[in-house]
Amino acid sequence: MINLTIDRVPVSVEPGTTVLEAARQHGIRIPTLCYLKDINQIGACRMCLIEAKGYRGLQTACTLPCAEGMEVSTNTKDVRETRKLILELLLSDHNISCPTCVRQGNCELLRLSQEAGITDLPIKGELHQSAIDHSSPAISLDATKCVLCQRCVAVCREVQGVSAIGLVNRGFESRVAPFFQAQLNAAACANCGQCTLVCPTGALTERDDTAAVWEALHDPTKHVIVQTAPAIRVAVGETFGLPAGSISTGQMVTGLRRLGFDRVFDTTFTADLTIVEEASELEERLTHGGTLPLITSCSPGWVKYAEHFYPTMLPHLSTCKSPQQMFGALAKTYYAEKYGLDPKDIVSVSIMPCTAKKFEAGRPEMNASGYQDVDHVLTTREFGRMLRQAGVNLKKLPDSEFDSPLGLSTGAGVIFGTTGGVMEAALRTAAEWLTGNQLNGRVKFTEVRGEVRGIKEATVVVGGNVLRVAVANGLAAAARMLEKIQAGEVQYHFVEIMGCPGGCIGGGGQPIPPDGPEELDEVRQARIQSLYTIDEMSTIRRSHENPAVQALYREFLGEPLGEKSHHLLHTHYQVRHPAGVRTGR
Ligand code: SF4
Ligand code: SF4
Ligand code: SF4
Repeated sequence: MINLTIDRVPVSVEPGTTVLEAARQHGIRIPTLCYLKDINQIGACRMCLIEAKGYRGLQTACTLPCAEGMEVSTNTKDVRETRKLILELLLSDHNISCPTCVRQGNCELLRLSQEAGITDLPIKGELHQSAIDHSSPAISLDATKCVLCQRCVAVCREVQGVSAIGLVNRGFESRVAPFFQAQLNAAACANCGQCTLVCPTGALTERDDTAAVWEALHDPTKHVIVQTAPAIRVAVGETFGLPAGSISTGQMVTGLRRLGFDRVFDTTFTADLTIVEEASELEERLTHGGTLPLITSCSPGWVKYAEHFYPTMLPHLSTCKSPQQMFGALAKTYYAEKYGLDPKDIVSVSIMPCTAKKFEAGRPEMNASGYQDVDHVLTTREFGRMLRQAGVNLKKLPDSEFDSPLGLSTGAGVIFGTTGGVMEAALRTAAEWLTGNQLNGRVKFTEVRGEVRGIKEATVVVGGNVLRVAVANGLAAAARMLEKIQAGEVQYHFVEIMGCPGGCIGGGGQPIPPDGPEELDEVRQARIQSLYTIDEMSTIRRSHENPAVQALYREFLGEPLGEKSHHLLHTHYQVRHPAGVRTGR
């Protein structure tokens, strides 16, 4: 161990630990802006400056390794004044528009400025002028609020393995953009939104679709319905200051009614339906020699990534649409027919943890109902903002229930929202079918419950069948797995891939932790635990036992993989060529 003092507190740390990490391990806060542990430790923002006795000048704590006998001070006059000056310089070229900024109330730059005691802006610098890049259907980039911390670049490259964006130009002209300064919609961007989760300011945000939804809600000629993904109920409370993982299902439903939605449904219903179709597809491929491994297709960030970078793997993807799109197709057919509604008058809105769902809803092929199946997609953050705009305090709402028939779900559908959940839900159904009900009530497949980051492999024995399965979350982990599959180094029957770390609960549209991205892993774990709690409390825990799904097949669809199911619930993929230059993954 190495022994040193930080602000006169004796600390002992492993060799190689930086001063910043040593301080954090001992509860001493050093402010940061560009730092992301293990991903972006570049000392660019200079916010973590400290003094170390015997060292010349101020040092960046995120890059300075601890040394035996070191005496570190984090709060000297020199440190505080220099940090304040750096912030004043950043603000001198910042489009300060807090009242209209979506990060107002949750902005790291604003918080640091307040902590530094900035009360006026003495430095008048030249202001960057540039138009907001609204070209992407998923995310927006406002360079006038960018502090060039490069967290987004690091996450896109290191966690997602995409490198859709980078730092372009030099000096004052430096800015974050896709390569060749293309617009976002021309880049090979997966739309995952992970960059928006780590941006400390309002520079990278989800595309804001709240105005279009308000317009629909205010239109008396429209029947406006909403579906909410499993991951929303364990996250939306955070937008009202509730602890991470708080379960707010009933209050969320009441809140949506207060906003004016005519019916509040649950995407978990179509998660169950997805499992029935996907388990049927797996059984079909296993018994008739189809392309294996079967890879899940419910994460639209993963699907677009595969279309760009792994086109030869597209035949492996399940043809099942995601639960969002299955719901959309049924809303304007089955639901419209059952309740005598004209589908042209239905506006179908979804609340999703995911920015990529915005792109998915706009795909031209997603119109099996004869209309665009999903009209508007809001992220959890946008939903939280709409509640505030309506003066609705989620924390004070009574509980209420989802509407029928598209609101009934099982525990299997709920765990769709976490990494390993789709796999476990599919195994609950496929295993029962493959064994002819010989499972003796087994519903838990803990061996596939995933890590927050990375890959998990398992061998599941069901009846006489040995199923080799694997789960990957985060696109860089997915790429590592796909390379091994392509090289023949691993053989699986069934693979789950989620585009975001932790699965949907870690989606790019989820609430941003108030103390910054360092809390993300902890927050994701809390949300995952809550989904498993809901599953444990559910009376029905296998998707194919959902009585509303059974009624849907009886009354409308016929059978899994049947003609009507194929038309409404299945899709196809397209090869997309990278428009930008990828610098590696
Ligand atoms: S990014 Fe922060 S400081 Fe800048 S306008 Fe938005 S809230 Fe204000
Ligand atoms: S949305 Fe995802 S893929 Fe696109 S730039 Fe951001 S992190 Fe990269
Ligand atoms: S867009 Fe956000 S995360 Fe990216 S460099 Fe600018 S401020 Fe940092």
